[in-house]
Amino acid sequence: MLTNDQLAQWDRENFFHPSTHLAQHARGETATRVIRTAKGCHIEDRDGNKLLDAFAGLYCVNVGYGRQEIAEAIADQARELAYYHAYVGHGTEASITLSKMILDRAPAGMSKVYFGQSGSDANETNVKLVWYYNNILGRPEKKRIISRWRGYHGSGLVTGSLTGLEGFHKKFDLPLSQVIHTEAPYYHRRPETDMTEAQFTAHLVAELEALIEREGADTIAAFIGEPVLGTGGIVPPPEGYWPAVQEVLDKHDILLIADEVVTGFGRLGTMFGSDHYGIKPDLITIAKGLTSAYAPLSGSIVGDKMWKVLEQGTDENGPIGHGWTYSAHPIGAAAGVANLKLLDELELVQNAGEVGAYLNAALRDALGGHKNVSEIRGEGMLAAIEFDADAETRRPFDPDQKIGVQITTALAADGVIGRAMPQGDILGFAPPFCLSRAEADEIATKTKRAVESVLGTA
Ligand code: PMP
Repeated sequence: MLTNDQLAQWDRENFFHPSTHLAQHARGETATRVIRTAKGCHIEDRDGNKLLDAFAGLYCVNVGYGRQEIAEAIADQARELAYYHAYVGHGTEASITLSKMILDRAPAGMSKVYFGQSGSDANETNVKLVWYYNNILGRPEKKRIISRWRGYHGSGLVTGSLTGLEGFHKKFDLPLSQVIHTEAPYYHRRPETDMTEAQFTAHLVAELEALIEREGADTIAAFIGEPVLGTGGIVPPPEGYWPAVQEVLDKHDILLIADEVVTGFGRLGTMFGSDHYGIKPDLITIAKGLTSAYAPLSGSIVGDKMWKVLEQGTDENGPIGHGWTYSAHPIGAAAGVANLKLLDELELVQNAGEVGAYLNAALRDALGGHKNVSEIRGEGMLAAIEFDADAETRRPFDPDQKIGVQITTALAADGVIGRAMPQGDILGFAPPFCLSRAEADEIATKTKRAVESVLGTA
């Protein structure tokens, strides 16, 4: 058997890790952690260390690890038919069944699902569909996409541009000029301390309108947003935000893309975030929770209004010139079918809502009132704690202190994986939906301990 040292050496020599400090890793300054197995909410490394994964991988292993039903479905599919493409009307029982299962669960007004592999490529598809749509309608100038600062939509060329986090643009010549950003619905950093949530929403909507007027509505094709900002800090929207945004978009004939890569299939305690907030999207991006990451699969759910125009486009231009080799990959589709069945059978969406609320309350009990904890927020099975040098005035820590990273590291050393969100001192949690109340208590207790070890008590 290979030793850990051997693997660590091969890793440093050969493996280009995503989102990693390449130089430090090559020098061996960041540890190589080799994960060996996992069950339920726990992962285990090669040394036998067990950790409670309170981020479900990258908020994706929603049904929890080690589900034999999904493993069997994947194995059966691989034995029967590992691959066939989906071009020119081809499909498999799994991919066709899954498309129906998705539409049965999707918000009203959705028409078809296009399958991809990752959240990034699904958003790439969405942007192309929006451009195609406006070309078919004879509006070649109406092409730009509005995204929010702090939004996360992927790390490709256009999707990395949509992403509103500096680290994803720097030195990559992004964002592309077709993407423009508007203010994040981030109440914690509202411009005036005495603003209510409703006033902050009015401010954001006024900013959005001003942007549209400045740029010209006839140049703007779509607005993209996550129902709850995810990687940008796990930030639920302020009161009334989505209906107010939707009204502005409708007025200017701008399409709405709901990026539900994190929120889709139950993370907020409802099947889709769009239903949770009353959003009526033209396109919905899905990935992660579609298969609970047992196999890579994503999708773009296309609404009725767009679908009619896409059909018209093919009557005028021939088959749509967009396709991946792995669109609707049978193994991903089989994993998706088994995963959605499991969500229903085990009532995991309901559990996400109930235990998620319990986790949020436990975190507030453990840390509410700490001098450096300025906000504890969440929705469903999502939670975040924001740290500031002075909680009362919301004065941030010096970023060089890396307080969020320090706390996350201390927490991991105590056996719980959270995530230091990439912008600000924010500790995020997005556990699997099968989290128990006892595990939620463990997260809260150990988080308190980690916070106090870095920042002191009280
Ligand atoms: N959209 C959202 C909301 C996401 O959170 C992510 C991934 N974290 C993506 C898109 C991109 O997905 P992927 O990493 O699978 O390309």
